[in-house]
Amino acid sequence: MNADALRAPDLPAWPQYGDEERVGLIRALEQGQWWRIGGSEVDSFEQEFGAFHGTDHALAVTSGTHALELGLEVLGVKPGDEVIVPAFTFFASSLAAQRLGAVPVLVDVDPDTYCIDPSAVEAAIGPRTRAIMPVHMAGQIADMDALEKLAADAGVPLLQDAAHAHGARWQGKRVGELGSVAAFSFQNGKLMTAGEGGALLFPEAELREEAFVRHSCGRPATDRKYFHRSGGSNYRIGEFAGSVLRAQLGRLDEQVSVREERWALLHDLLAGIPGVVPQGRDTRCDRNPHYMAMFRLPGIAEERRNQIVDELLARNVPAFVGFRALYRTDGFWAGRTPEGASVDSIARACPDADAISVDCLWLHHRTLLGSAEDMHAVAEVVAHVVRRARA
Ligand SMILES: *Cc1c(COP(=O)(O)O)cnc(C)c1O
Repeated sequence: MNADALRAPDLPAWPQYGDEERVGLIRALEQGQWWRIGGSEVDSFEQEFGAFHGTDHALAVTSGTHALELGLEVLGVKPGDEVIVPAFTFFASSLAAQRLGAVPVLVDVDPDTYCIDPSAVEAAIGPRTRAIMPVHMAGQIADMDALEKLAADAGVPLLQDAAHAHGARWQGKRVGELGSVAAFSFQNGKLMTAGEGGALLFPEAELREEAFVRHSCGRPATDRKYFHRSGGSNYRIGEFAGSVLRAQLGRLDEQVSVREERWALLHDLLAGIPGVVPQGRDTRCDRNPHYMAMFRLPGIAEERRNQIVDELLARNVPAFVGFRALYRTDGFWAGRTPEGASVDSIARACPDADAISVDCLWLHHRTLLGSAEDMHAVAEVVAHVVRRARA
């Protein structure tokens, strides 16, 4: 083929759905209760999603961002408290802390896994630290052994941002078995979806009950007399979303297996391209659901990286630029930030997050639902585009 006509084949579409979703939606419709109070779809989904992740205590909410906010709230984060967050993540991680009036303290990430660096966390822990938020970047679980130890020594809880980690495992343990609160997203692009939605997993019933009350305007499920027990807001998800999520959960495990197999191949093909360094794996993460197929082009200029993404899109590869380091967004500075901090001071303290945010790109996880042949075709396009851009 003429190299300039080089295109990737059509990859599987996302989201995926079938009769399970159709039947679920009709079931919810005909149930006659479209909100979760009195309905059974969200209740059932919570049980199923919790069981899948090894806990009895799950709560579905309106979004992953709300899951993080509510998680921090029930862990006792108050205005002025500090929450340690990686500098390279989606904006919701720090936004959730700022919505509560708390101060996100940004720390560096590992240049290979792009997950929060435990030694940077250790250095950032201080008297006002109230929570530590590891993000399981693209499905790679952060170093939970080191983080659990740091958290226990400091007497501070962990809140796992598991928005990329549906079905992930760390040394055989599922996310709900790791002993800390975890927050998930079901936004359209995530590994299972109802368009929007989120969930929290808790290690114990009391925290889940507290979160339930807060997610329903401070009202326990059985209240009929408007005895609002606490503050909170309305983060309730509806029955239609609950029914779709039940069907989506049924697809997850097999899709994870396919993506694991395809990433093993695509990783090696990408690693063989000069100038391309795929995301590394901490093998203690023994099941990685691969929310993104990420790789770096070390040393590339940001503009050039962005052109490569455009070129990949034009050649049918679903590519995106990596997250912008949080401190390089206006939104971050609109909330509470550490006293005296500036873009430059955080950038100096987070050199790896700063570099990754410039040189990283990712392919949508639907890429990894393609065939083995598709992985070869995608890698060929990446090699061609990167070679031309680097020339
Ligand atoms: C998607 C995402 C969220 C937020 O989820 P929403 O459902 O879109 O609010 C939080 N953290 C990370 C790392 C994400 O990628």
